[in-house]
Amino acid sequence: MGTFEVISKYGDHEQVVFCNDPNVGLKAIIAIHNTALGPALGGTRMWNYKNEEEALIDVLRLSKGMTYKAAASGLNLGGGKAVIIGDPKTHKSEGLFRAFGQFVNSLNGKYITAEDVGTSVQDMEHIYMETPWVTGIPKDFGGSGDPSPYTAHGVLMGIKASAKEKFGSDSLTGLKIAIQGLGNVGSNLVRFLKEEGAIMTVADIDPVRTANIAETYGAKAVSSDEILFTECDILAPCALGAVINDQTITKLRAKIIAGGANNVLAEARHGDQLKELGILYAPDYVINAGGLMNVFVELEGYSHDRAFEKTKRVYDNILRVYDISKKENIGTHTAADRLAEERIKTIGRLKQRHPGKSSRAFTTLREVNNR
Ligand code: NAD
Repeated sequence: MGTFEVISKYGDHEQVVFCNDPNVGLKAIIAIHNTALGPALGGTRMWNYKNEEEALIDVLRLSKGMTYKAAASGLNLGGGKAVIIGDPKTHKSEGLFRAFGQFVNSLNGKYITAEDVGTSVQDMEHIYMETPWVTGIPKDFGGSGDPSPYTAHGVLMGIKASAKEKFGSDSLTGLKIAIQGLGNVGSNLVRFLKEEGAIMTVADIDPVRTANIAETYGAKAVSSDEILFTECDILAPCALGAVINDQTITKLRAKIIAGGANNVLAEARHGDQLKELGILYAPDYVINAGGLMNVFVELEGYSHDRAFEKTKRVYDNILRVYDISKKENIGTHTAADRLAEERIKTIGRLKQRHPGKSSRAFTTLREVNNR
């Protein structure tokens, strides 16, 4: 398949940039999916892809996902993503990230990068030496640091909205909640849920981590094989993707699925099946957008309080999705897509007529903040 055919198959992206610098071993692809709502923001993934086509397909898919996530979250951002081809354990250097930073800079704010799988805050620091168009830089550089507490807080808001929808109240006191995965997002979520008075069951593939968290927060520990099938009010997947699949879906004993993990559904049809089973599903990219909201605040000049406040919007965003799902009698995953597409269409058109605040506004704010 030709490159343009691949692009049109995976989302008809506006621009795809191939970045090549043999001196530092850089082979990277930046994909800008859609900038109707604002500059395209999305992290840089570093991965040892089997071949270049695999890298291209990954960056096209991920960048399209960012367009939907930003749009459904009410942010004035478009969708983009970058991949660097190489093993993050052996292939990293200051030169590689600075060269990549120069490519990001050449796009003049149309694409804004951040951390992702295989890249770290230190890598963002190297990119920042070459371009202001990077977020997730360290706090002492005026950045927002680790996004996971904000992601987890947004997930908490989405869980509360889901409880309201399903049980008529958003109080989590006494509700049984099972959390799969106790890493950056999961462990922060457990902390918030404890404050809400939830009765928790937890599991991680790391048994020591599971035991520690269970003891600290008074949760019941179970094995990672059992957690998905625990009888509970709410199951919160916070580990890997594709946990709702043909093998697991009929064995679920939860009334709601609402967690931080990306790509929770193995395929879209599993979202329809959840609807048939009467299990309420909080679409992943709507409920886990707190981290994106946090870096968005970084663009305006960072404030922890403002970022934390912003993550509360996940509550209304999730309720809006449930509303569309009921009115149109469609699965919540499809309703989320509709919400995003509708906003891109209406607000994107408005912005074309009256550009208003655009990436330029961020430039000014960055200058004000001496970034
Ligand atoms: P992480 O690597 O810190 O944590 C993942 C945890 O899941 C690890 O502790 C791992 O041992 C555990 N795990 C893996 N497989 C498991 C299994 N089968 N059963 C139980 N536990 C298992 O990652 P994270 O940053 O906490 O992200 C978790 C999920 O949330 C990912 O899907 C990520 O894409 C998504 N997400 C994260 C953020 C963020 O701000 N970090 C934002 C949006 C989405």
